[in-house]
Amino acid sequence: MFNAELIEKVARFRGVDEDPTRNLSACPALVLNADYTPLSYYPLSLWPWQTAIKAVFLDRVDIVASYEREVHSPSFDMKIPSVIALRQYVKQSEFPAFTRFNVFLRDRFQCQYCGSREHLTFDHVTPRRLGGRTTWENIITACAPCNMKKGGRTPRQAGMPVHQAPIRPTSWQLQQHGKLFPPNYLHETWRDWLYWDVELEA
Ligand SMILES: [Zn+2]
Repeated sequence: MFNAELIEKVARFRGVDEDPTRNLSACPALVLNADYTPLSYYPLSLWPWQTAIKAVFLDRVDIVASYEREVHSPSFDMKIPSVIALRQYVKQSEFPAFTRFNVFLRDRFQCQYCGSREHLTFDHVTPRRLGGRTTWENIITACAPCNMKKGGRTPRQAGMPVHQAPIRPTSWQLQQHGKLFPPNYLHETWRDWLYWDVELEA
């Protein structure tokens, strides 16, 4: 389940009044798809300010919100965009790629045997020597000590039950998990486009 308190603890929304002193490099733009949902939550879809401004001039994005900070050039003055939306919708595939990172994300960066978040590795639930394959349904996140302890046995043989049976997640499910891991900086103007629950409970 998505935990709003966790988000508040990990990531504080910063007020716009901090803007004028803000370093240019600390002014990334949150990138929304044409339907105004973030392109991704983890990592959060952010562009450096230069990329955002270039995209504005190429008519590829609309500016949704801006920082107070401005950039000046001989030909224009412009507030730096803090939220932009793509004009053309980018279709997300229904199923994410089977990658090491996505397996971690599916398992919320936790060992599926003991819950540890440290020294994470991957484990074949059914060991390879017993015909276990390298697939979404047979690979889980395991900490190194658990991985070692389990060895070439099945969870039942090792007496180590799997916390959550591994499945092939949909992109939507991974996005939900991605919300649990916000970066430690979130700008106030991003609030409306992220984390419904925070806004509702605040
Ligand atoms: Zn473990």
